[in-house]
Amino acid sequence: MTVRDKKNVNKSNLKYIFVVGGVMSGVGKGVTASSVAKILQARGLNITAIKIDPYINVDAGTMNPTEHGEVFVLKDGLETDQDMGNYERFLNVDLPKENYMTTGSVYLSVIKKERNLGYEGKNVEVVPDIPLEVIRRINLAAKQAGADVVLVEVGGTVGEYQNILFLEAIRMLKQRYPERVGVVMVSYLPVPGSVGEMKTKPTQTAVRALNSVGVFADIIIARSTVAVDRKRKEKIATFCNVNPDNVISAPDVESIYDIPLNFEKDKLSERLCTMLDLSCKSRSELEDWKKFVRKTKNYKDEVQVAVVGKYFSSGEFVLSDVYISIIEALKYSAYANGLKPIISYLSSQEFEKGRPLSDLKDYGGIIVPGGFGSTGIEGKLKVIEYTRQNGIPYLGICYGMQLAVLEYARNVMKLKNPSTAEIDPKADHLVIDVMPEQREKIMGKDMGGTMRLGQYPTIIEKGSIASKAYKKLQIMERHRHRYEVNPKYISDMESAGLVFSGKSPDGRLMEIMELPTEVHPFFVGVQFHPELQARPLDPHPLFTAFVKASYESKS
Ligand code: GLN
Repeated sequence: MTVRDKKNVNKSNLKYIFVVGGVMSGVGKGVTASSVAKILQARGLNITAIKIDPYINVDAGTMNPTEHGEVFVLKDGLETDQDMGNYERFLNVDLPKENYMTTGSVYLSVIKKERNLGYEGKNVEVVPDIPLEVIRRINLAAKQAGADVVLVEVGGTVGEYQNILFLEAIRMLKQRYPERVGVVMVSYLPVPGSVGEMKTKPTQTAVRALNSVGVFADIIIARSTVAVDRKRKEKIATFCNVNPDNVISAPDVESIYDIPLNFEKDKLSERLCTMLDLSCKSRSELEDWKKFVRKTKNYKDEVQVAVVGKYFSSGEFVLSDVYISIIEALKYSAYANGLKPIISYLSSQEFEKGRPLSDLKDYGGIIVPGGFGSTGIEGKLKVIEYTRQNGIPYLGICYGMQLAVLEYARNVMKLKNPSTAEIDPKADHLVIDVMPEQREKIMGKDMGGTMRLGQYPTIIEKGSIASKAYKKLQIMERHRHRYEVNPKYISDMESAGLVFSGKSPDGRLMEIMELPTEVHPFFVGVQFHPELQARPLDPHPLFTAFVKASYESKS
């Protein structure tokens, strides 16, 4: 061990669980990692979860959602991957920015340290300096959380170049603390239609690829359409060098929330506790979780909600991942109301191409989610006008609120050529304008991580729909935007009937707008993203109120 390595030695008894993917992506590694964390939390352990994304982007904020799915904003404002949302939802905790890293962010800190003479004249090298920075960050996040166990999900699939330095970090840690590091590989076992038999070879190949970089799997989670039988478990065990009891069956499930319970059928928490000598409670405390899972299967009726967005199509495919937090938030609130959520994804562009707006009559409620740019905007505006005029419950989130304000300025206030500075900065009436502190950032093309991001307070007006939903007058919600309701138009808008029922404490920023209930049963727009704080065991009150209104509008 070199002097530089010794400096990084961690004397605590922290245990590390790495989750890596084999065979292919898209098999639910994030949900698997969240479920592993959940079952250990239920054994009374303090666990924190970290996501590593191998791309060069410093954070997820600069990526197009159709490339990478939803951008999940943490409480402290870091723009991250949707898996961070899964961890927060499963563990029912807020995670800090230290729990997320990308290749770009790791390199950036190493380079900054080098520029500040932090390496004291030494040659800075890809190995060991990059993996050491990864390890430093993992230890920091674990320390901050006071964790007994830190679970680290490494993005990507073994065998690709991109994540190799993160696998090297695992190898280095395991070499230092063989008893404190466990590796879980999430693999996929195809059942080819022509053969009708589950094939283990891709898993064997993936394990070999992992072994070739000096990392060995302790547990293999066998994702497949069906459960893995004992015979295949033994085969995987022989060829992949693990105990057959450490091959955990992970068949496709109706609901992702079944997964922690399924893992416990194969005694996964027991296996992990024994393997890493964790001081686990003898009983798993999953009662609340089980109660929630029961609600996902028993309901008195259905509620139909449509999300009208622009990021749905990718070639022939429909991508709902882009709005995953909204969808999950709707589910929790539907279950809390004893309802089964039926969620439809409608592309706003279709309404521009002439899809009849009367199609919206089928839905109890409509959501226009957050977004950027001008694509599909006219379609969204038409949809908002229709929901306003026809009394269909409406929830506008971020861009969905800004567009509701714009629609009002256009069709009710009849302003000439109103717009948002995001689409037409030269319009006659910029009812949505760039926030003053954002102007310079746009001019200087300083776009990464510079929006109004993270948690801010909102003061709610008594008697409003928002106050009835939240049952309190001061709330904290997470934000991600550059534009805002232009203060110049507020009093005219209020005279025209719009209610700004939530404002920043200094009264400057309009955070919630609504229409009075005498005019419309539920027409609410929020400048923040309530979906980011919805949890299975703690549904979001605004979604719960919206789902209730959506159900009532049809009954
Ligand atoms: N594009 C809008 C803004 O930047 C809304 C952002 C969003 O919906 N997240 O203000």
